[in-house]
Amino acid sequence: MRALHLKLGASRPDGMLTPMNNIIGLRGYRETSINYKPQIVEVDLELELRLKSCPCCGATKLHSKGRYERRVRHLTSFGRESLLRIDLQRYRCCECNRTFVPTLPGILPWRQSSEPFREGVYQSHHDGM
Ligand SMILES: [Zn+2]
Repeated sequence: MRALHLKLGASRPDGMLTPMNNIIGLRGYRETSINYKPQIVEVDLELELRLKSCPCCGATKLHSKGRYERRVRHLTSFGRESLLRIDLQRYRCCECNRTFVPTLPGILPWRQSSEPFREGVYQSHHDGM
């Protein structure tokens, strides 16, 4: 199965980047709330772009199957650990009948943490050796 490519970094009509890009350093998300806690920053997100076609067969007729929340560990662009709570829509394709959720920019489907977070952990591990 080919990965679904969301169009990332699309600028808004007014040319401004969303504030979220400055905080989590990942494009393609819209911040709905940020909660600064002593140890962690909790960020509620939703995808900027809605899925328009089936990643399996390319059909454009999709049924909404409700929402679910994906939780991912991440580092903010300030180096603070954060918890991303991403509000996702689950879809079912009317053609091939598969259910799926949109691919997340910077986050692999089976991971509990974002790619920047994993790279950060890897680097700090090596710095300590
Ligand atoms: Zn399909």
